[in-house]
Amino acid sequence: LGNGRIGNPGGLVVPEIKFTKLFINGRFVDNVSGQTFDTRDPRTGDVLATIAEADKDDLDLAVKNAREAFDHGPWPRMSGYERARIMTKFADLVEAFIEELAALDTADAGKTLSMGKAVDIPAAVQIMRYYAGAADKLHGQPLKMNQDTQGYTLKDPIGVVGHIIPWNYPTMMFFLKNAPALAAGCTMVVKPAEQTPLSALFYAHLARMAGVPDGVVNVVPGFGPTAGAAVSSHMDVDSVSFTGSQEVGRAIMRAAAQSNLKNVSLELGGKSPVIIFDDADVDMAVSLSQLACFTNKGEICVATSRVYVQEGIYDALVKKIVEAAREWRFDTKANMGPQVDKKQFERVLKYIDLGKREGATLLTGGKTNGDKGYYIQPTIFLDVREDMNIAQDELFGPVMALMKFKTVDEAIQKANCTKYGLAAGIVTKELNLANTVSRSIRAGAVWVNCYFGFDPDAPFGGYKMSGFGKDRGVLAIDQYLKAKTVNTAIPNSPW
Ligand code: ADP
Repeated sequence: LGNGRIGNPGGLVVPEIKFTKLFINGRFVDNVSGQTFDTRDPRTGDVLATIAEADKDDLDLAVKNAREAFDHGPWPRMSGYERARIMTKFADLVEAFIEELAALDTADAGKTLSMGKAVDIPAAVQIMRYYAGAADKLHGQPLKMNQDTQGYTLKDPIGVVGHIIPWNYPTMMFFLKNAPALAAGCTMVVKPAEQTPLSALFYAHLARMAGVPDGVVNVVPGFGPTAGAAVSSHMDVDSVSFTGSQEVGRAIMRAAAQSNLKNVSLELGGKSPVIIFDDADVDMAVSLSQLACFTNKGEICVATSRVYVQEGIYDALVKKIVEAAREWRFDTKANMGPQVDKKQFERVLKYIDLGKREGATLLTGGKTNGDKGYYIQPTIFLDVREDMNIAQDELFGPVMALMKFKTVDEAIQKANCTKYGLAAGIVTKELNLANTVSRSIRAGAVWVNCYFGFDPDAPFGGYKMSGFGKDRGVLAIDQYLKAKTVNTAIPNSPW
C-alpha cells in the first residue's frame, strides 16, 4: 500500500496534443458533422484541446469498418501467438511513452503525475501483457457425447465489441476493456468519456504503430446520449462493455434489449465499506482507510466512502484518521488532484451540504481548496446513519463517513446494507474473523489487511446493483468469446 504520500514532482508541462480527430480504420479522420467539443484541464478549468465530436454517422462508419475487419480482416484469423506478438509490442510502446501518457491523463483527468507513472500506466502495460499471454491459450472443451456423436466446443471471438469507458481511469479502463477483446480476436469501437478523450486517441496511434491491423481498434470520442447511445443501440455491435454510473448502465441495457439483444457487461460503481476490528494494527488501519477513500480524489469505483470502526478503538482511530486526512497536499508536491470537471465538483459539494443537512457531523474538510480549478479538501463525516444519502449514494469524491459498530454481525449487516456490492476491506489480525466476514460480504472483491488488491489475474466485478461481468482475469476474456459446439457423427460406434 505504501504510505499514501506519493508526491507530484510539480511543474507539469502539458505535452503537445497531437491527436484530436476520430480514429477509424487505422487513420485519424475528420468527423461527419464538423462539430467539436472542448476538453478542459480540471486544475485550472482552461481548455486543453478541441476534439472532433463523434455522432451517430461517425459511429456507423466506425462499426462498418470494425465489421469489415472482423468478417474479412486478418485479426480474428491470426494465430493467438501472432496476436500476442502485436499486443506485446503495443504494451512496449505504452511503456516507452509513459512520461507523455501520464502527463496527458494528469492534465485531462486531474490525476497526479506520479500516480500516473507509478500506477495507471504500468498497470495498463501489465494488463496488456497478461492478455497477450492468454491469446494463444483459448481452449474449448472436448465433449464425450453418446455412442453416435462426439463433440467439442470452439471458442469463437464474439465479433464487433463496443467499449464505453469512464473518465476516472482513462488509461486503465482503455486496457481493461481492449486487451481481453484483442486477445479473443474481436474488433472494437471505443467511446472514451467526453471529459478525458486524450490518452485514448494516443493509444489508437500506438496500436497502429504496434501493427494492430486497420479497423480492429477504432476510437470515437463524443458524448454519452449521442455517441455512447449509438454504440449500445447499434444493430451490428455484438457486445457492449461499460463502466460508469448505474443510471447509464440501465440505459445501455435498455438500448441493447431494444436493438439486437447484444451481450452486455456492466461495472456500475459501489459504496464500498471498510470494516476495522478492535484488534487491527492502528497505523495500518489509518493508512488503509485514507488511501481507500481519498486516492484519485475519491473518483474510484471501489472508494471506501463508508468506514466502520469497532467501538473499542473508535475514539483513538477517529482522531488519527482526521489528522491524516489533513495531511493531503494540493501544492507542488500534491498527492491530491482536482475533481474531473465542474459538474462532478459541484455534485460532490452538494452531497457535502446534504450530509450536513441530514445531521451528520463534519469533522474536517468540506470546503474547496484554492480559488482555481476543482479541488475539494478531504472530508470526514461522523455520526452518519445508514439511512442517510451520504451513506447510500456513490459520491465519487473525497468524502468519508466514519461509523461505529459493536458486534461482528452488526458489521456484516451494515456493510451489506446498500444496493451496491463492488468491494470491501477488512482490517483484523484474526484469521478466522477475516475469513468468516469475507464469506458474508456480498461484494465482488474482499481485501483483507490491504486495499486495491488488484491483479491482472484476479477477476474484478460487482454483485447486486454494482453490475455483472468481469474485468481482469481469464474470466474477462469469456465476455469476448462465444462457445460453439461441434458434434460429429460416429456411425456404428461400439463405444
Ligand atoms: P457521468 O459522466 O455523468 O458520470 P458516466 O460516468 O456513467 O456518466 O459516463 C461513463 C461513460 O458513459 C461516458 O463515456 C459517457 O459518455 C457514457 N454515457 C453517458 N450516457 C450514455 C448513454 N445514454 N448511452 C451510452 N453511453 C453513455
